[in-house]
Amino acid sequence: MLKAFALFALIQVPAPTQELSPGTRYDASIPTLVQVAGHDFREEITPPKQVVAYFEALAEAAPDRAELMWTGETWEGRPTVMLVIASAERMARLQALKTDLRLLADPRTLEDDEAERLISELPVVTALMHGVHGNEISSSGAAMAVAYHLLAAQGDATVELILRESIVLIDPMQNPDGRARFVFQNTMGRARWEDAAPASAEHDEPWPGGRVNHYLFDLNRDWFAQTQPETRGRVAALLEFMPHVVVDVHEMGGNSTYYFPPNAIPGNAWTTDEQRELTDVFGAANAAAFDERGFAYFNRDTYDAFYPGYGVSWPMAQGAIGATYEQASARGLVLLRSDGDQLTYADGVLHHFTAAIQTAATAATHRERILRSFLEFRASAVALGRSGPREYVLTSEHDPGMARRLAETLVRSGIEVNKALEPVTVGGRTLPAEGTYIVPMDQPTHRLIRNLLDPHTPMDADFVQRQIERRANRLPDQIYDVTAWSLPSLWDVDLIMADRPTGAATVSLNYTRQMNDVVSLRDATVGYLMPWGTNAAAAVAEALRQGLRIRSAGGAFTLGGREYAVGTAIIRNSDNGPDLPQRLASIAIRHGAEVVPIDDSYVREGMSLGSNRVRHLTEPRVLLVYDQPGQTYSVGWARYVLEQRYGQRTTAVRASSLGRVDFSDFDVIVFPSGNYGSVVGDGMQDELRTWMSDGGTMITMAESTRWAASSGLLATTAERRGGRAEGDEPPDSSTADQPIDFLEAIGPSDEAPEQTPGAIVRGLLDTGHWLASGTDGEIGVLVEGTRVFSPITLDRGTNVGRYAEADDLVMGGIVWEDAKPQLANKPFLMHQPMGRGQLIAFAEDPNYRAYAEATQLLFINAVLLGPGR
Ligand SMILES: [Zn+2]
Repeated sequence: MLKAFALFALIQVPAPTQELSPGTRYDASIPTLVQVAGHDFREEITPPKQVVAYFEALAEAAPDRAELMWTGETWEGRPTVMLVIASAERMARLQALKTDLRLLADPRTLEDDEAERLISELPVVTALMHGVHGNEISSSGAAMAVAYHLLAAQGDATVELILRESIVLIDPMQNPDGRARFVFQNTMGRARWEDAAPASAEHDEPWPGGRVNHYLFDLNRDWFAQTQPETRGRVAALLEFMPHVVVDVHEMGGNSTYYFPPNAIPGNAWTTDEQRELTDVFGAANAAAFDERGFAYFNRDTYDAFYPGYGVSWPMAQGAIGATYEQASARGLVLLRSDGDQLTYADGVLHHFTAAIQTAATAATHRERILRSFLEFRASAVALGRSGPREYVLTSEHDPGMARRLAETLVRSGIEVNKALEPVTVGGRTLPAEGTYIVPMDQPTHRLIRNLLDPHTPMDADFVQRQIERRANRLPDQIYDVTAWSLPSLWDVDLIMADRPTGAATVSLNYTRQMNDVVSLRDATVGYLMPWGTNAAAAVAEALRQGLRIRSAGGAFTLGGREYAVGTAIIRNSDNGPDLPQRLASIAIRHGAEVVPIDDSYVREGMSLGSNRVRHLTEPRVLLVYDQPGQTYSVGWARYVLEQRYGQRTTAVRASSLGRVDFSDFDVIVFPSGNYGSVVGDGMQDELRTWMSDGGTMITMAESTRWAASSGLLATTAERRGGRAEGDEPPDSSTADQPIDFLEAIGPSDEAPEQTPGAIVRGLLDTGHWLASGTDGEIGVLVEGTRVFSPITLDRGTNVGRYAEADDLVMGGIVWEDAKPQLANKPFLMHQPMGRGQLIAFAEDPNYRAYAEATQLLFINAVLLGPGR
């Protein structure tokens, strides 16, 4: 009986929700969503195509007040858009306004009276960003409702205020591919009647879910690295306007309520008091609006803004007021909450609509104060850059392409970077022009620069102390994301802080974005060398794909007075056709790789070019294990780094289908992080061993390395706290009749090593080993979690990379004191030969968010240089 009653309750229609905006009259010439898509804003989860179609219809119906910007295209070919809404008067001179908005963002050239004119004339720009996680569905519904309301409401005082004082930018979908995936599976899983049961198919997303984009990235971590096209297009559009208020509109778990700032601590170290005070103004206004309509909410919990790659924090580092809004998600049209209430998609749209309109109105109300504080933020940033180090010099002499890529990444965030045109003398060193870039610190983006380039961004000390106490009591820490992201550390680029301007001749990188070094190759008697590095690896991947014959140096050598490290690519005329110079040049130009013609190969020091330590490379046939039990992000990062970052053809095979594959069809098998015990049984393990003995290269990382160790494929062990191996008996600690140390006595006898909350740890590499090709022997490794492996012994393999000594271990972020002794000297990259093949194991994920360029290079070394060794 009870069961039947419960079922009956599930199919009850939820109580009608309040109107979006009670009493508002709308202009009939502006299309409703019903007219364009056949359903209302709150009736259905609008698919991406219809969202864009609706925004097109709005822009067409109100060309005097709305303009649709096409900001880019996703990996799956869907457009990303941003709608600009302004008064007719402002829209008529939008280009001039954009110029003025950018002028206000750069106080260096602004006279006082000009600044006052801008502050009195310019609108405040409010950017409403939606659905960065594609399964956070009601946010895009609200985006359409807000756009309609702003364009169609008649005689509404709030809308008039917003249009009088502001420009509103609406990005309805930051992740169209993820939303499309959600809508597809939700539609497919639907019952005849909307099913509120949380476990029902329509609420239970199959892997990988709609949160992530095509390459399974969390786009709300990608704002500074901008590896994904969705992010690049969006940031470029925002930089045209330099918005003053940026709201990232999300959804969270269905049993919560609604979240808006004030944000949780810890905030980012570079946030100003004025930003915090203004954030409070928005929080209070939202609270009043929610109280009036009877909506529950919470603040100051969970969602911090410490990491600068979020939609809330990247804009804050630029001087905007940033906010994250979170609505409890129905993950469908209606969800039964644990408190027995029914939560609807329609409720989500209503709450987001209410918050968004209130936000735009608050910005409009405080227009002048916000503009003034924005200008003050940018001016104080310039002043900060005149008091400390005057320039940050970035250099990577051993791999110039690495520093160049980093410089270009900074430029995409609106940071000014100059390329050296002559050798730069700084800090007692003379750096070559090639691979050296200078970041002047007295620029309005100073705080973002400090965030991205400083080795360490401090976290609120009281907060950190509370985490230490929580750890001592075996409570999880409250750190929401990583504690370090410093790009020079993760990119194998040296950062030198210059106290005085270096005075070197430079050229701005900002206005010559696609500047590639011109490479024209002269004919050479013997052939060409490509010193190994990030650009050379990408060039070699393409050259192999195009069928060029390339060899790889297994040792260092000196030729023509220049030293070449292990890994140097050797492209001989005799191996290739007469068109080699042209083909090689076009590839090298595309990837910015250096090519050195050689007429004489008589090496007098080091390895001979005809030595049997020189190996012939072939295009590797790569299998990437896809799908569960692989970890979503790790699978996606690996696939992205292979296919897009380095241009390596890759066959993604679902883990459940590995049994159908003849491993001998592949040279490399990559297991992204995950525990593969459930899909790789004893029989398949034997097959992998045989395949490796026959020349196969297996690559594991993070949790798949733990799995490889526990399954016996890899000759090491994952350690428990204190250094014992997993599975060993804990020591007998009974010491009867002795006074006890209380804290020691309550400590568990067997537990995982101390957790590391995403820190950058110093890694030392054996530079003579081919796996370390292209590095300078010391890199930053992103360490996250509880993985510590015992070093592999000499009879079984090589620890190509290990962490530094305890007192030299931490490059940035938080590593708890208890964790340091156990991490010190432990391997992060192991090489275990198996017959003619090998197992290459990373202790952590080398492709972390695709911005850990140094470890990514080690990963691609394993793929390109490993096979046939
Ligand atoms: Zn989200």
